[in-house]
Amino acid sequence: MFKLTPRAWLNTLFLGGTLVLALVLVPWKLATQGLRLSEVVVFLVMYSLIGLSITVGYHRLFSHRAFQASWPMRLLALLLGAAAFENSALAWCSDHRHHHRFVDDVERDPYPVRRGFWYAHWIWVMEAKDRPRDSVGDLEQDPLIRWQHRYHFWIGAAVSALPVLAVGLMTHNLIGQLIIGLLLRIVATHHSTFLINSAAHWFGTQPYTDTNSARDNALLAPFTFGEGYHNYHHMWQWDYRNGPRWYQWDPAKWLIAAAAWVGLARGLRRVPDTEIQRARVDMEARRLVAVLAADALQAKSILEAARVRVDGALSAFQTRLEAWQAKKAEWKAKGHANAESRSVLRGEWKEQRAQLRRDLQAAWADWNRARQLVKRQAMA
Ligand SMILES: [Zn+2]
Ligand SMILES: [Zn+2]
Repeated sequence: MFKLTPRAWLNTLFLGGTLVLALVLVPWKLATQGLRLSEVVVFLVMYSLIGLSITVGYHRLFSHRAFQASWPMRLLALLLGAAAFENSALAWCSDHRHHHRFVDDVERDPYPVRRGFWYAHWIWVMEAKDRPRDSVGDLEQDPLIRWQHRYHFWIGAAVSALPVLAVGLMTHNLIGQLIIGLLLRIVATHHSTFLINSAAHWFGTQPYTDTNSARDNALLAPFTFGEGYHNYHHMWQWDYRNGPRWYQWDPAKWLIAAAAWVGLARGLRRVPDTEIQRARVDMEARRLVAVLAADALQAKSILEAARVRVDGALSAFQTRLEAWQAKKAEWKAKGHANAESRSVLRGEWKEQRAQLRRDLQAAWADWNRARQLVKRQAMA
């Protein structure tokens, strides 16, 4: 039941009030004053910096420990993240870790989509239920996070208002900047984050797992800085990427990789490609079997044999790759192995890799044939 506690009142007024004001004031402003370039620039810069801080900072760094960041990067994420007005990093991460641990559990998931699209979107925020704050002991060790937790509202107010006021005064356009750069920006930040809890658990595909409601949805990625690939994310929450493929729009992963390159971040965690491919094949096999008739035993066994072959080829590839990487790490640590034996081993690895790739290709061809066969059977 929705109980109007003082905090629920405050959240409801803030979320509802900013939205209603934006719905009234933005059209009024556009109709009477039009839109200025400086307003668009401030909106886009603030929206991007704050959204990236939520995605890279609150989400991947603090909630999931997908990488480690130096203090300037953590501080920046905490300052800008506060301006999202989505609570302190500590509270946000506590809720989010519960969401992953108890996903779809109507009692223990803070934003379970099973209670409805709008509940997961924002009713849960307005409800402001008291939830146990556990599983964030690691974050409480960080003095920056403790400091932000204490003052997050005032930090957020200062960070979001100061640039808007400065530009507004300089361009003699305070009202316009307040409406577009502050009010509309707050509403846009809120609802783009909320869409990951609602739409990314509602619309889209499930290429890796169907054990929870999370979905991959490329349409959500552009304005959430890469958070649309939510099925992948629920499968491997600790990966610093949400879209693992090079063409998947995930600016947060590019930013994290760039931060690592300049020494601001390290320890980036990623799932081996072979594991991702195996999950896809397993999921696809389960779907294909489900469309076959109960007596289609031959098709089922061909499909299973092809799946096992892909599985075996992927395992072999991963085992040899890891052995080779361990060897390289050993050289690096001990400075062992003379140049000659290194080049011999490197040559051997290249040959092995070529063979492994051929095996893998043959297994994939098998798999594709089996898939076609099952599809034909299912259509018949
Ligand atoms: Zn989720
Ligand atoms: Zn997450």
